[in-house]
Amino acid sequence: MSQKVCIEQVEVRGAIPYIGMCEDSFGEMVPVWSMNPVVVMDWLCDAWRCRYNQIRSRRMKWNRDGSELIPIGGAVDLRSDKQVREECSWLSSVPSMILQSPNRIENTDWWSANKRRRTLKKKHRYPGSMPRFKKRDTDPMFVCWYNRGANAVFRKFNRHHGEIVIFGQNSRANNLPGRRGCRFEIHIRVRLSEDIQPYTSVGVHPRSGYVVFVNDPLPVTRSRTGRETGIDRGCVHNLALSDGTFIDLPKHKLERIDKEIRRRQKAQARRISRSGLDAKTYVREHRQSNRYQAEQDRIRGLYRKAHAIINDFQQKTTTNLVKDYDLIVLENLSLKNMGRKARKIEDPLHPGRYLHNGQAAKRGLNRALRSASLGGVRQKLEYKTRRAYASSLLFVDPRNTSRMCSVCGHTCKENRESQAVFHCKKCGFQLNADTNAAVNILRRGHEQLLAGPGGSGRDITVSDETTKNFGSSATVSRKPTASTH
Ligand SMILES: [Zn+2]
Repeated sequence: MSQKVCIEQVEVRGAIPYIGMCEDSFGEMVPVWSMNPVVVMDWLCDAWRCRYNQIRSRRMKWNRDGSELIPIGGAVDLRSDKQVREECSWLSSVPSMILQSPNRIENTDWWSANKRRRTLKKKHRYPGSMPRFKKRDTDPMFVCWYNRGANAVFRKFNRHHGEIVIFGQNSRANNLPGRRGCRFEIHIRVRLSEDIQPYTSVGVHPRSGYVVFVNDPLPVTRSRTGRETGIDRGCVHNLALSDGTFIDLPKHKLERIDKEIRRRQKAQARRISRSGLDAKTYVREHRQSNRYQAEQDRIRGLYRKAHAIINDFQQKTTTNLVKDYDLIVLENLSLKNMGRKARKIEDPLHPGRYLHNGQAAKRGLNRALRSASLGGVRQKLEYKTRRAYASSLLFVDPRNTSRMCSVCGHTCKENRESQAVFHCKKCGFQLNADTNAAVNILRRGHEQLLAGPGGSGRDITVSDETTKNFGSSATVSRKPTASTH
């Protein structure tokens, strides 16, 4: 979670920060102090990047023949923060909340890249490279911990303006001679459009002119409602609740973006085929071409937009669900299997040929995006219910939830007449098929709570929190809210 605000002005007050040593016109090294905000910000960015790269240099990689681990940069820098301050005089006056922050940030960067590569390799996609050193020309920035008010303190002036103050002090040896105080303050004035949430650190990007407040996601504020729901996740209706409501992605928006992406991709492909080159050669030759790059950027932007829409949908709906329901029951789906291709059907009349198996309908970006949203909903519900008051999430076995009658329990394939219609062959009960499945899921959740954590089946997860809240009050014989469609 983060909030981004624009920098309006930077000002240095108090003592003059010591920037380092510099060669003067006579070729002698002289100390430099500066009140110039641009110089001071550059100095902090350089210091942060330098420390980051020193820590990064301790990372290892396998050598060419894979026999031993070698440091990624050739040389390893094992100096601590304190040693660095003493040995490199230009780092001596950097506020400690800035000099310490690369320790943790570098670690997070490295391991998240590791995780990303592992998942992409499993999916047989290009994993990307491991992160390298930070370069001087890529968006200079530094991070300062807030650390419960130790530094980077934010103060609001009025509705639209505020400032962040970063404190620092020159070491006694490096203070400007003749000056009494050694403390300096860097005031970064920012423009606000909303209230700043409690934050843990600020990331300052002086060249690009913005500051990012990094905050922990706040727990959803809720009170006990006594309501419970089962949720069936699917593709036609993204979420079907057991009370008969459906929650859907803004499909028309996604379809419009999908169309635009396809149009641009086709144009790109046509350009390649017209050039008479194969795709690989074309891309190699046109990598530098402005027009090719601009087109690629536009496509990338459209993908980003689609994902932003999905993320927004997920955040809002999961927060509302957590607010409204004390207990949420989900089926324990394996999304990996759902994403698989449809099984081949051989044509009995023409050996070697295949019949329609619905694979064409299974394909498509929209479909992929929608199924991606299923996993996101689960993941977001997991952490939101964990942190909210009196809220629980339960997973149940998904087998036959869409084929079982929610009134008499009769299970057979023919019950489901079409995608939308459920019609029980035994008792004649009719309901929307997704709603029927959601009711079954809620029922299973109740059964599981009564059985207790010991009696749970194979794929079942019951958190301690859940049994604590609902162990006594769960009822099995809850009538489904039947509404015939
Ligand atoms: Zn029935």
